[in-house]
Amino acid sequence: MRGVLRGTLLAGAVALLVAPAPAAGGTAPLVCLDPGHASRPDLTTEPIGPGSSIRKIKDGGGAAGEARVVLRIAKRARIVLENGGLRVAMTRTGPDFTLGRGGNVDRAKFCNRRNAALMIRIHADGSSDPARHGAATLYPAWRHGWTDDVYRPSLRAARLLQRALVRRTGARDLGLFRRGDLTGFNWANVPVVLVETGFMTNPAERRRLTSFPYQWKIARALARGAERFLGRRA
Ligand SMILES: [Zn+2]
Repeated sequence: MRGVLRGTLLAGAVALLVAPAPAAGGTAPLVCLDPGHASRPDLTTEPIGPGSSIRKIKDGGGAAGEARVVLRIAKRARIVLENGGLRVAMTRTGPDFTLGRGGNVDRAKFCNRRNAALMIRIHADGSSDPARHGAATLYPAWRHGWTDDVYRPSLRAARLLQRALVRRTGARDLGLFRRGDLTGFNWANVPVVLVETGFMTNPAERRRLTSFPYQWKIARALARGAERFLGRRA
């Protein structure tokens, strides 16, 4: 028994010695995926930024069917990102936030604590105009003390993700939007973007968004954009 155990330990030590070194610089960067919304709306409020007296509801609920669709996209994106050697954390892997009831402050802090190299908030849009369709990427407006540290890299990430998204899905390019009113941006201490992957209220786009092949297309696009942002792909 002892000899066998020692042999096993020795083999383990040798395996450790010959195992390939992790990516240069140590651990792989972590991408924090934040699929929007939850199983039900949360109409309690939270400050839109640190120290702010302006409060917004935690979760209006999103467009009908959005929460399920964006979770599926996020899970697929996780697979693509991990296959590419990146680490991934998700604010939710089921209907609700991983750490219980939580708004966008908690989701931002979740990604901050993990020192994410990029936080990708994944949403799908809604409109009273059923003809409206297309994809857009939101990024934080510059504000001293809130987003000054993440503004530039977030804008760069937004450009890369939006370009990858439009190219890979063929969705109409609605462009980039700078937002100063989003709680999930103002509390983030890591580069952050919010991708509006399409309109759930447009019948044709809704059909695409709920189809697995299109969800994979979006997932691959988000992963490629993130990889370019992290310098892991030209
Ligand atoms: Zn949403």
